[in-house]
Amino acid sequence: MTDLYDRALKVIPGGVNSPVRAMKAVGLEEPLFVARGEGAYLEDVEGRRFVDWVLSWGPLIFGHADPETVDVVVAAAREGTTFGTATEREVELAEEIVAAVPSVELVRLVSSGTEAAMTALRLARAATGREPFVRFRGNYHGHADPFLSEAGSGVRTLGLEAGGEGRVVDYNDLDAVEREVDGAACVFVEPVAGNMGVVPPADGFLEGLRRLCDASGALLVFDEVITGFRVARGGAQERYGVLPDLTVLGKIVGGGLPLAAFGGRGELMERLAPAGDVYQAGTLSGNPLATAAGLSVLRRLTPRVYEALEAKGRRLDALADYGRFERVGAMATLFADDYPALFRHLLGRGIYLAPSQNEAMFLSTVHGDDEIDRTVEAVAEFSA
Ligand code: PMP
Repeated sequence: MTDLYDRALKVIPGGVNSPVRAMKAVGLEEPLFVARGEGAYLEDVEGRRFVDWVLSWGPLIFGHADPETVDVVVAAAREGTTFGTATEREVELAEEIVAAVPSVELVRLVSSGTEAAMTALRLARAATGREPFVRFRGNYHGHADPFLSEAGSGVRTLGLEAGGEGRVVDYNDLDAVEREVDGAACVFVEPVAGNMGVVPPADGFLEGLRRLCDASGALLVFDEVITGFRVARGGAQERYGVLPDLTVLGKIVGGGLPLAAFGGRGELMERLAPAGDVYQAGTLSGNPLATAAGLSVLRRLTPRVYEALEAKGRRLDALADYGRFERVGAMATLFADDYPALFRHLLGRGIYLAPSQNEAMFLSTVHGDDEIDRTVEAVAEFSA
């Protein structure tokens, strides 16, 4: 055991601040202790460098320590790191989000995807006067109580069963939704699943959800924490042309700083305090460093960026020769028969995948042909 992990275990439960960082699921004792990141690379405390396909679980669409993001954050910090009152920059970021995400007319900024999802559910319940809701086995919406049972990501990796509410049905199973949607406040869904590995929506699935929600009076909530600004600038709702009532955003929207958001139609969002009676608040909400980073990133996400990401994605599709490979835009998963062995093989060759099959590989503008080809070669070598 390294000294750092030994110290971590003495003061942090399990030695990590988020269970998905633990590596026991892939047969390793210790998490990766990172010293720094640059572009597509991570460097650990022992000086080993890795091509990083995790990118902090999705936010870093321009890679680690993106110079422009760093500059705006440093400049913002010099003017104060938090004020707890309104700023111009948070208005600008909200304007940017409203312009980009087709169904969002009003948006509120928070600090994590968990908070955003939790509040979207509260709002859907208040707006409909209904308590039950429908969600999908293997989707993940953060760690608020109602979302935990049969959730994806670390809940699934660790095989935990932790309370939870909601009528849980299989992803892509519209018949099951039809059976369960009656009297529901909302249907909560990842429009492209990314927390059970990448699973694209079946043809007609999102349209079917829209139809079932309209017929039953349930609200449709897209959790676009991963897909937002990733599978298209306007997220999955732009890519698939299906508009939800409420949208949950996180990761890319904060440019790699702690920021998330939820938004939707004006009259729904107006239910939030102080305009309405549904309470939600946050000391660091709309934080000036995070809004600076988010604005800098969102303003650079032009159509050319998505074309470039798609081209990189097509190059990465070579992985399909080595197992079931799913990709939607800049998110992908290679489902391997023995994922832990694949993970360890790649790590030994300087390539870092998520330490669980339930997560996605995240492409960024800084993954070049060289990083992609090295990854494909290492997988080929493993499969040989
Ligand atoms: N929703 C989805 C789809 C996510 O992938 C995540 C986190 N991976 C969350 C919500 C929760 O976000 P956070 O970790 O910022 O609380």
